[in-house]
Order: sequence, then structure tokens, then C-alpha cells
Amino acid sequence: MPILQLKRTFICQLPHGVDLLDELTAIVKREDIRMGRLSAIGATINATVAFYDQNTQTYNPLEFPGGMEILSLTGNISVRDGSPFVHAHIVLGDKEGKAFGGHLMKGTTVYALEVFIEEYEGDWLERKQDPLTGLYLWSGGKF
Ligand code: ZN
Repeated sequence: MPILQLKRTFICQLPHGVDLLDELTAIVKREDIRMGRLSAIGATINATVAFYDQNTQTYNPLEFPGGMEILSLTGNISVRDGSPFVHAHIVLGDKEGKAFGGHLMKGTTVYALEVFIEEYEGDWLERKQDPLTGLYLWSGGKF
């Protein structure tokens, strides 16, 4: 089990109109963050999330057109195919306060976003496809 220490913390806002997942990925690649976590709040212009169907082992996209609150965005950063990779889940709220969410996909446009990104140093974890679940899970880090 890797032991990690906090190395750097970034706090930033993302620009209006950018793709949320693409922009987070660009930041972690630019800063070469190989192990980390992120959390954010804000709002979307439109959103695309996915539900992982365990029977078919496929991600089924869900679209949320129109403005939504980002009640919570949380995720981690590790390595996949040799590069920093963001895995994030998002909870969205509508005008009535109803919440929806899922696995963050490309196709989510930022209205405004305030994000903390924590980088850890130590042994980083790499994602490999897991034959049982079909998911790209950490190949180490098990108890
Ligand atoms: Zn996920």
C-alpha cells in the first residue's frame, strides 16, 4: 500500500466555456501530477456524465442540457498509459434542488468552477484494465 505525502496544492478557477474534463486533464498533464486528488464546486452550461452498466460493462452517457449547479465534484489523479489521468464523479443540482450525477465525461461545459488540486509524492498508482470489472483500476494499492 503506497504511502503518500502532500507535495503541492493548487487552487484555481477554470475559464467560462471550456470542457471541464479536458481542462482538468490539461492542468494535471502540464504540472505532471501523477498522484493526486481534486475537489470543486461551480456550475455547468451543459453536462455529460455516465453510468457504468455492470452487466454490459459499458459507460452509458446521460446528458444534462441547460445550467446546473455543481454541488460536488470529486476525483483522483493517477497514471494511465504512462500519463496523468483524471477520474472524477460529479453531483449536479437543478433549479428545484434535485440532484443527479455520475462519472464525469467529456462534453461538460464550465459556467464557473473553483477547484482545489492536491498533488502527492511517493509511489504513484497506474491504471490497468481489470478483467473482472472491465474497468481501468489501480494495479497496486491493495491491502
Ligand atoms: Zn468513475
